[in-house]
Amino acid sequence: MNRDKLSVSTYTEAQHGQIQGHEVVRSTSRPASSLTLGLQRQCLWQTLVDDVPRYLALAQDEKVDVCIIGAGFTGLSAALHLAEYGKKVCVLEAHAVGEGGSGRNVGLVNAGTWARPDDLNTYLGDEVGEKLTTALGQAPKLVFSIIDKYNIDAQDTRTGNLHMAHNATGEADVDIRYQQLTRRGVPVEVLTGAKCHEYCGTTKINKALLDKRAGTVNPYAYVTGLAKAATQNGAKIYEKTPVQQISGQQGQWVVHSGEHTVTADNVIIATNAYTEGEWTDIKKTFYFVEYYQIASEPLSGAVADRILPYRNGSWDTRMALSSIRRDKDGRLLLGTVGSATGKPQQFFVSWANHVQKHYFPDLPKFNWQYEWCGKFGFTKDHIMRVFEPAPGILAATAYNGRGITTGTMFGKAFADYIMQGDKTHVPLPFKNLDDSLVSLRGWRSWFTEAGLTLYHAGQSLKIIP
Ligand SMILES: Cc1cc2nc3c(=O)[nH]c(=O)nc-3n(C[C@H](O)[C@H](O)[C@H](O)COP(=O)(O)OP(=O)(O)OC[C@H]3O[C@@H](n4cnc5c(N)ncnc54)[C@H](O)[C@@H]3O)c2cc1C
Repeated sequence: MNRDKLSVSTYTEAQHGQIQGHEVVRSTSRPASSLTLGLQRQCLWQTLVDDVPRYLALAQDEKVDVCIIGAGFTGLSAALHLAEYGKKVCVLEAHAVGEGGSGRNVGLVNAGTWARPDDLNTYLGDEVGEKLTTALGQAPKLVFSIIDKYNIDAQDTRTGNLHMAHNATGEADVDIRYQQLTRRGVPVEVLTGAKCHEYCGTTKINKALLDKRAGTVNPYAYVTGLAKAATQNGAKIYEKTPVQQISGQQGQWVVHSGEHTVTADNVIIATNAYTEGEWTDIKKTFYFVEYYQIASEPLSGAVADRILPYRNGSWDTRMALSSIRRDKDGRLLLGTVGSATGKPQQFFVSWANHVQKHYFPDLPKFNWQYEWCGKFGFTKDHIMRVFEPAPGILAATAYNGRGITTGTMFGKAFADYIMQGDKTHVPLPFKNLDDSLVSLRGWRSWFTEAGLTLYHAGQSLKIIP
C-alpha cells in the first residue's frame, strides 16, 4: 500500500438512484478491506456512514447564479445557504464530497481560532478581532442548528470540548484563556482536581478548560449531510469535475472543467488546502501542515468507560498536541500534527501506544484499527484568510486546523454577502491575494515537519514525558 496516499475514497456496493433530478450512485461506504485483520490505512469516518449519495460528473454546460468550486464545509455551506435564499447554484468537486479536509478531520466543533481572543485583537485591531471572535463563538450553534434543521445524523455530541493542560505552562495558558473568554461572557469553566480527572478520564491532567459551546461530529457524516441538504434545496453537485480555469466573459465568469463550462455571476473558490491545479494562487497563501489520526477497535468495560465519559472532544497543550476523543462506538481516537509520509507504520503506532499508556495506563490490551492523514493550510499568525481577487469571486483559505465551524460560518457569510451586497457580513477584511503569498512555503512545511518528527520520536523514546 502506498503510504503517501491515505485516501478517504471508497466506492463499494454501488447502486444507481435519483436525487432531485440528479442521477447519483449510492454507496454504503463500507470499505471492502474491512474484514482484513490488523491496522488499516483507511479513514474511520467513512466506515461509519451508510448510504452516501454519489453525484455524477458535469456532462453539459450550465448557467447558474453562483458556481462553487470544492465540496467541503465551506463550499457546501455556501451552496446550502444560497440555495435556501433561492439562488441557482452548482458545486464542482474534483473528486468526491468530503474528499478534502472536511471528510477526514478530528471532528472537533470548536468556537474560535487557535489564537487567543486578545491575540486576535493584537493582529487584527480591536474591532475586527472582536467581530471575528463573536462570529466564531456563534459558529458551533450554526453547525448544530443545520444538523437539527436537516436531520443530519452527524453522530454529534454537544457536551463541550476540553483544552487539557499537560504541564505548568499549559495550566497558565488555560487560566489566561479562561480570563479572556469570561471577560467576553463566554460559558467556559476551569476544571481542576477530581472533577478534571473525571471529565478527562486521566489523572495526568490536573487542569482543563471546558468550553460548553463546543462538541464533536463525525465530520464525514456532517459534510455528506450538508451536501444532501444543499441538493434538497435545489443546488446541483458535480463530483469528478476538476476545475482547470476561470475566465471572464461579458461581465460573467466562466468556470472550465474538461470540455464543459459553468457560466455564473459569482464564483466561490472553496478548495482551500486541497486545491488542485495551477488556475489559482490561493494555495500559495499558506503552507501545509499534516495531521495523523489512529483509532482503536470499539472499547467497553469499566476502565474504557472512564475515558472522556461525557464524550467531550479534547486536546492537550503540547507543542505537538495530542487530540483525544471517542467515536459513537466507543473507539479511542488519538491524533497529532505530523505526516506519515516516508515513515514506517511503527513510528506513529509507537507514538500512539506511548500516549495511551501515559494518559490511560489501566486500559486492557486492545487493537488499533484505522489510521489516516490529512493536511491543512497554516499561517504564521494562525488566522485564516479571505480574498475577493476580482469582483464576483470570493475565496477563503488557511483555517489552521479549525474548519468545521470556520468553513460553515464563512460559507454562510459569503452567501449573505452575495445576496445583500454588503461586505460586512464577512467578519474578516478581504486581503489582497498578491500581497498574501507566503515565501519559502516548502521549507516552512519541511522545518515544521522535522520539528514534529523529533518531538514524536522524543515522546516514543520517553525523552519527552
Ligand atoms: C487531519 C485533520 C484534522 C483536522 N481536525 C479538525 C478539527 O477537529 N476541527 C476543525 O474544526 N477542523 C479540523 N481540521 C480542519 C478542517 O478539516 C478544514 O479546515 C476544513 O475541512 C476545510 O474545509 P473546506 O471546505 O474549506 O476545504 P476542504 O474540505 O479541503 O474541501 C476542498 C475541496 O475542494 C476540492 N478541490 C480541490 N481542487 C479542486 C479543483 N481544481 N476543482 C474542483 N474541486 C477541487 C477538493 O477535492 C476538496 O474536496 C482538520 C484538518 C485535517 C486535515
